[in-house]
Amino acid sequence: MSLPSTVDVAIIGAGAAGLGAADALKRSGLSTLVLEARDRVGGRGHTIMAAPDIAFDLGCGWLHSADRNSFVEIAERLNFEVNRALPPWRERAYGNAFPQTDRDDFIRAIDEFYQRVEEAAKRANGHDIPANRCLEPGNRWNPMIDAISTYINGCELDQVSLLDLTAYEDTNINWRVRRGYGALMAAYGEALPLALNCNVTLIDHSGQQVRIETSQGTLTADRVIITVPTNLIADEALRFHPALPAKVDAARGLPLGLADKVMLALEQPDTLPKDGNLRGATMRTAMGSYHLRPFGQACIEGFFGGRFARELEDAGDGALAAQAIDEIVALLGNDYRRKLKPLSESRWAHNPFARGSYSHALPGHAGDRAVLAAPIDGRLFFAGEATSPNFFSTAHGARDSGARAAGEVVRAFATK
Ligand SMILES: Cc1cc2nc3c(=O)[nH]c(=O)nc-3n(C[C@H](O)[C@H](O)[C@H](O)COP(=O)(O)OP(=O)(O)OC[C@H]3O[C@@H](n4cnc5c(N)ncnc54)[C@H](O)[C@@H]3O)c2cc1C
Repeated sequence: MSLPSTVDVAIIGAGAAGLGAADALKRSGLSTLVLEARDRVGGRGHTIMAAPDIAFDLGCGWLHSADRNSFVEIAERLNFEVNRALPPWRERAYGNAFPQTDRDDFIRAIDEFYQRVEEAAKRANGHDIPANRCLEPGNRWNPMIDAISTYINGCELDQVSLLDLTAYEDTNINWRVRRGYGALMAAYGEALPLALNCNVTLIDHSGQQVRIETSQGTLTADRVIITVPTNLIADEALRFHPALPAKVDAARGLPLGLADKVMLALEQPDTLPKDGNLRGATMRTAMGSYHLRPFGQACIEGFFGGRFARELEDAGDGALAAQAIDEIVALLGNDYRRKLKPLSESRWAHNPFARGSYSHALPGHAGDRAVLAAPIDGRLFFAGEATSPNFFSTAHGARDSGARAAGEVVRAFATK
C-alpha cells in the first residue's frame, strides 16, 4: 500500500504495544496508522510452525500473571484455547540429574534470596544496588539462582536493579495458548490499520505537525506513539529531531537482556513425560532449561539466557541446538543424539528490529521506566514493555502500555 500523506495518530511498531494502542484508538474517531518495519505484526511475539505439527513461539510463550493479563480475555474473544496447566519450572524435574532433596534445597535457597531482595528494597530508601548483592556469600546455589535470572531478566543479577526487580508484579499464575502467543497477536492485529515493511528512521517534531521519515516515504501526523524496543532508541536506529537525549539515556538504562529458544524434534516421544522439565546442569549459570514435550508434542524446547545465550548466538546458526543436544545427551544418554533433530532457533540479539529480548533496569536506573514513558509536548507518546511500571518485560505489559498511551493521546486531542 502507499502511505497516506497525513494521519491524526501514527503508531511506530506493530508489537503488542503498538497493537494495543491501535486497538484502543479504534473507536476514537481519529485516523490511525501503525508503521511496522517487518513484514509481519507481533514483534517479539512470533509463532512459527517448526514442523507441520509443532507450533513454536520464538518469542513470548507464557501468559504471565495470567489472572491479570489482558491477553487472556483477547484470546477467549478470538477463540484461542487458553491452557491453564501450571508450568513445569518449579515442581517437576525429570530424571535423576536433579534429585528431589537437592531440588527442595534449591527452592529454599531461591525463595530466601527473593525474601532478602524484598527486605533490602524496603530498607533501601530509594538507594538502588545490583540485585546480586542479595546472594548469600558462598551459597552453593548462587550460580543456579543467577541462571534463573538469565531466564527471567535476560541477564545475570549483577546487571539487575534491586528496585526494578521488586517493582515487577508476578502473581505466579502462568498459562499458555495452544496455537501460540505470536499467533494470538497476529490475529489481534488482523483488523487494525497497518503499513508493513515500513521502517521509520526519523521523527521530526520541530514543526507544527510531526514529520515521519520511513522506508516508504514521508508522512505527517498530529501525534505519534513510539513503541520500538529500547535498544533501537539507545542506538539511535530511530532518530528524533530535535534530539531527545533524556529518552536516549533512559533507554540506555533499560537495555534488552537476551533470552533465546531452540526447538528440537524428538523421536519416540513417549519415553519422556508430557510437559516435563529438565535442567542442563544444576551448579553453573551457563546452562539451558528444557521443556519436554510441550502440549504433548513430539519435541523439546530449550531456553538459554544472559551472557551464555549471547555467546551461543555469536557462535553462529546451529550453536544453540548443538549445545542443547549435548546437554540433553549428557543427562539422558547417548540414544538421544539420534532421537533429537534441530528444527529452529531464535537469534534475538542479531535481529535488527529487536536487538535483544526484554528490558531490565540497570542498577540505579529503576526510575528510567517512568522517564521513558513520559509524553513530550503533548505530541510524542511512548509505549512498549520497557515503559510498564509493573509488568515490564512481558507481552501483556507491552499491550497495556499501548492502551495507556492511546488514552493519553485521546486526552491530548480533547484539550487541543
Ligand atoms: C525469547 C523470548 C521469550 C519471551 N517470553 C515471554 C513470555 O513467555 N511471556 C511474556 O509475556 N513475554 C515474553 N517475552 C517478552 C515479550 O515478547 C515482549 O516483552 C513483548 O512482546 C514486547 O512488545 P513490544 O510491543 O513492547 O515490543 P516489540 O514486540 O519489539 O514491538 C516493537 C515493534 O516495533 C518494530 N520496529 C522496530 N523498529 C522500528 C522502526 N524503526 N520502524 C518501524 N517499526 C519498528 C518491530 O519490528 C516490532 O514489531 C519474551 C521475549 C523473548 C524474545
